[in-house]
Amino acid sequence: MGKIRILEANVANQIAAGEVVERPAAVIKELLENSLDAGATRVMIDFSRGGKALMRVEDDGSGMLPEEAELSLARHATSKIRQAKDLDQIATFGFRGEALPSIASVSRFTLQTRPAAEAHGVEILVNGGKILHQKDHGMAPGTRIEVANLFHPVPARLKFLKSDETESAHIIRLVRLYALAHPEVGFLLREDGREIFRSPRQAPLLDRLREIWGRQVAEEVTLMPVFERSGMKLSGMLGRPGVSRGTRQELVTVVNGRPVDSRTMAFALTESYHTLIPKGRYPLAFVFLEIDPAWVDVNVHPAKREIRFRDEAKVRNFIIEAILSVLRAKVESDVGFPVVPTPTLPGALPVSPMSPVPSVSAVPASPLPPLVVPVSVPPVSASPALRLGWRLLGRLREERAVFETPTGVAILDLGAAHQRVLYEKILEQFQGQQVISQPLLVPLTMELEPLAASVLKERGTLLTAAGFNFEEYGRNFWRVAALPFWLEPDDALTFIRDLLAEMARREGDFGKPSLAYDALAKLAVHRARRKGDTIADAEVMELVQALFRTTQPGTCPKGRKTYWEWTDGEMTRRFS
Ligand code: ADP
Ligand code: MG
Repeated sequence: MGKIRILEANVANQIAAGEVVERPAAVIKELLENSLDAGATRVMIDFSRGGKALMRVEDDGSGMLPEEAELSLARHATSKIRQAKDLDQIATFGFRGEALPSIASVSRFTLQTRPAAEAHGVEILVNGGKILHQKDHGMAPGTRIEVANLFHPVPARLKFLKSDETESAHIIRLVRLYALAHPEVGFLLREDGREIFRSPRQAPLLDRLREIWGRQVAEEVTLMPVFERSGMKLSGMLGRPGVSRGTRQELVTVVNGRPVDSRTMAFALTESYHTLIPKGRYPLAFVFLEIDPAWVDVNVHPAKREIRFRDEAKVRNFIIEAILSVLRAKVESDVGFPVVPTPTLPGALPVSPMSPVPSVSAVPASPLPPLVVPVSVPPVSASPALRLGWRLLGRLREERAVFETPTGVAILDLGAAHQRVLYEKILEQFQGQQVISQPLLVPLTMELEPLAASVLKERGTLLTAAGFNFEEYGRNFWRVAALPFWLEPDDALTFIRDLLAEMARREGDFGKPSLAYDALAKLAVHRARRKGDTIADAEVMELVQALFRTTQPGTCPKGRKTYWEWTDGEMTRRFS
């Protein structure tokens, strides 16, 4: 260990950058927020290679004088707060004065800025935190910041960047959030010069959502009337009853113009929808809360993404009250939530598999998955269950079955057994590369949010191997032309969205094919979980036989027991 000393400024900045700038989207976020704080009415964002090569944010805001520009690159230099007590009343995005010096310390950074009252602007060029030059620069009023070669000065951090697709998806999502949250500002987002979206100033909210988020989502929501009470105001757009998502990606909450993660708000929204969407899922919602800044603590997360309310319960109750009043009114009057007809699908056809599989004809065209999936029967003299000597005695509460066994009595959970059988069947297909896929007569179309689309692009081959067939047509629009045998067309879009979200969340698990197949099969069976009471008595014995052909008949893929057995010895003891 050396002597204790104070870190050199640039080293301190690079360390701070570790917290503020976790990925390219975080740079865009800081720059965007500065533009908004500077009163911009137009913001243009450009990036290339997921932001790794270049990011540029240009605004028509207040600009800075040359001496301010220089100061803005010094640590803890901010024009937004002066004293700690100002933290109780934050009305701006920034306040720590950390972003610019941090970003400039880990990139090649160009700042050009000019206040409207000045004849010309200034340009400062910084590389890895070292100022290379500062000179006069002719430009329109406003500020333009360019960040090139992010993390080149700190190569260790380059390793943590994800693919261009993924980083780009994060940037797009972020800019969408801010564009939606700020109707007073016009946004233009471009990737490699290609326009991704443009949101005109002051357009009606639903139109903005359509421009920014896409047509499909805009059709699934309806505008809510503004709800105001006890100093709080809620407005926005809410998903129709029945519309749900497996993640919170499209449960967007904005507080005083700041897109945030708030458990309290997400929980309140989900609560309000609890009778309208399936359990464990999230509603689709874009809501804007206006509240006295003194009631909000934004200083709890390094990137200020999470916030806390001084009185969480009060906010939660307010939101539940607001949403319920809207939903109730809508449901009663039955207007405002136009019921969009679900496209009628002709159902999947039984079709030839991608490679010859003998049991294809056993894949039914019925809307329900086969209960006992066709397992290629190994050459055994007697069926395992018969050899096992289990005799069906009857059903117990429908979803269980009771058996006499050579050594006692067994109770089988039909749902868990079904899951085990289906799980191994799916895995077996993956391993044998003999996947049964069902082409759809009418392909489904789906619009994905960018992160999901990027996952689909990166992991496309895995999904094709699982029996899906996707085709991209236009940015973030996809056609689904075939599904694995275990997935129902009616269920498919929701399953795919959930799957992609899960894949994005558990990147590691889906990186290696073997793990990916396992994870996918688990999701599939979780989905396919049927209540035991839909299993006919005649099918129970088939299920038992299939179960005992699996590698682990004793548990479902999640580890729950499939059956319990009480031996004769145990019973005798109980009776003695
Ligand atoms: P903070 O936003 O926390 O104050 P930053 O490092 O992000 O810290 O910015 C430092 C200062 O630089 C800001 O307080 C502001 O005065 C100035 N600044 C940054 N970006 C802009 C911009 N786009 N237009 C005008 N001023 C800006
Ligand atoms: Mg800032």
